[in-house]
Amino acid sequence: MSDLRELYQQLILDHNKNPRNFRTIESAQRTVEGNNPLCGDRLMLYMNLDGNHISDISFQGSGCAISKASASLMTVALKGKTVQEAEGIFQNFQRMVTGKDSNFDAMGNLAVFSGIRDYPTRIKCATLAWHAANAALHNHQKSISTEGEAS
Ligand code: ZN
Repeated sequence: MSDLRELYQQLILDHNKNPRNFRTIESAQRTVEGNNPLCGDRLMLYMNLDGNHISDISFQGSGCAISKASASLMTVALKGKTVQEAEGIFQNFQRMVTGKDSNFDAMGNLAVFSGIRDYPTRIKCATLAWHAANAALHNHQKSISTEGEAS
């Protein structure tokens, strides 16, 4: 388990240092601003849809290593997925980080955040980008805040 934890830690450090899809999308179809005042994490989520597929997704912003790595890994996981697939991954991620599900086999690299359940104050860091992406998928919010949410 310690080897796995070390691997997870390295993956988070790598994605924090070299975040994937860390750019703006000019005239993106959907943009959502995410704000986690508890930690000071702020990001802007960009998304383009081609029919039912997420054709492009990216983010910009600043925050702690967990929020940035989570956003980076999320864009990799969601790019090219259908809206329904993305919703499923979002729900699984939510269940994983809040400790409601302990089966991470299907989560791939996203399982690096399975240990976050032991650090309740950091759960909002890990889920910030996901809430922003979920809002972008449904196109009903231009900004989201973790303030006042259960997770
Ligand atoms: Zn944070």
